[in-house]
Amino acid sequence: MQIQDMLIGGEAVAAVGGTSFAVTAPATGEVLAQVPRAGATDVDRAVKAAGRGFEAWFRLRPAEREAALLRAAELVAAEGQARFLDTLIDESGSTIAKARGEIAYTVDLLRTAAGEARRLYGETFPNDDPRRMSLVIREPLGVVGVVSPYNAPLSLLTKMCAFPLAAGNSLVIKPSEETPLTAIAFGRLLLDAGVPAEAISVVTGFGSECGAELVNHPGVRCIALTGSTNTGIAVGQAGLSKMRRMQLELGGKSALLVLRDADPQQAAKIAAQGIFTHSGQICMANSRIVVAREIYQPFIAALKSEAEALYLGDLRDERTAYGPLINGRAVEKVLEHVHEAVAGGAEVLTGGEILHGLVVKPTVLLNPPRTSRAWREESFGPVASVVAADDLEQAIEIANDSDYGLSAAVLTNNIQWGLHAARRIASGAVHIGMHAFQSNALAPIGGVGLSGMGRSGGHYSTEEFTEVKWISVDVGSLPR
Ligand code: NAD
Repeated sequence: MQIQDMLIGGEAVAAVGGTSFAVTAPATGEVLAQVPRAGATDVDRAVKAAGRGFEAWFRLRPAEREAALLRAAELVAAEGQARFLDTLIDESGSTIAKARGEIAYTVDLLRTAAGEARRLYGETFPNDDPRRMSLVIREPLGVVGVVSPYNAPLSLLTKMCAFPLAAGNSLVIKPSEETPLTAIAFGRLLLDAGVPAEAISVVTGFGSECGAELVNHPGVRCIALTGSTNTGIAVGQAGLSKMRRMQLELGGKSALLVLRDADPQQAAKIAAQGIFTHSGQICMANSRIVVAREIYQPFIAALKSEAEALYLGDLRDERTAYGPLINGRAVEKVLEHVHEAVAGGAEVLTGGEILHGLVVKPTVLLNPPRTSRAWREESFGPVASVVAADDLEQAIEIANDSDYGLSAAVLTNNIQWGLHAARRIASGAVHIGMHAFQSNALAPIGGVGLSGMGRSGGHYSTEEFTEVKWISVDVGSLPR
């Protein structure tokens, strides 16, 4: 059995209490490693190290922080396959294509973030009193607690870490208990790239234990959490009670609108990619599909064919479309959502059951009740719900009948219809002519409603992970 240490202040360490937990491969059930089950003392050590690390990291010149992040990008480009590919496949149940995609996006994110190190822009503003001059400078926050999810354990973690680092913050990372091995490997890579040892710690453990300790630790200035909405609310309340800065990227229930001029075959192909990628374990997955009644029948026939044509084999087989859900609880939740919708009158167009192990068949539900969990809540599985709409206004109304608002998409060739819908849908992003699962290192990713608060990516992250300070100077009387 491989025993994997966590990283505190640059050192590979076990938990002070000596406890550990098993990391299991969702595809095979094999125990991959034991990792430390960190508690209060471990978190305290990590936050104190990060406090010292902050001084060392922020004192570097912007060009030096940029260089370290660029070295990290080049290390991932050169060694990413060796360092991360197998771990991503085994630990998170990623297909080989998804794992490669994460590695490539990680390079892009690190390069993009590196440039941000030089862009801590401030400003001046005019003052009616000619003796006064005002400057606004931008400073890093200090120690940022990064609490990450399991579904994209490398690229999402990179996004959550690279931008706050670029701005001069130090980090204590608490990865998902499902995917700590990828996070430890990522922490090592940052150290290899030259980030000061104390500026990065990775503490492994459970959310209710070391996660909660991190959120409540007085040395943490900001919490960046990507996770489910329930976790976000709990963490948000704890953080707010201590006036932490909070950046919360939470769940979604994204709508895909298929307007009447769309080609049903093409639309079904796009819709299938948008929901079935990584078994639907994607926050932006378009799990609600609203189709113009004129093309409803050909669209659902094409979507059924797309779903049933997906090849679900070995994760290392290039043809495999997706793999298992992360654990048994995730499978139970997905099936509960399906059964409840069916009991409420939904029709199962295809799927609705386990293929084997933790792999759920691609599932399409027709007309689930708008009160059902399959329609209202995040199933986080390969389940699309489809309803028809009479016109664009009704499609927009259905899309907006949600507590979430992370991403949305509109399939149409009519740019006016597309833009009209984009402006009316309450969502952090709306994509026209593509599905709802889109990433870009410069884009402001984040949601409205229960999908969270704050934005990450490019300069939006720089704004989230810095504080502005007003400095005013009495420059004295003007020379006569
Ligand atoms: P989760 O909420 O179960 O866990 C996320 C992280 O929070 C984990 O590290 C967990 O240990 C930690 N945590 C749990 N309870 C905690 C507590 N009380 N205090 C501190 N930390 C705690 O989420 P998950 O199941 O790992 O990930 C899937 C969820 O993440 C989905 O809801 C998905 O939509 C969301 N997600 C959102 C985005 C986005 O960009 N908005 C991206 C990816 C995933």
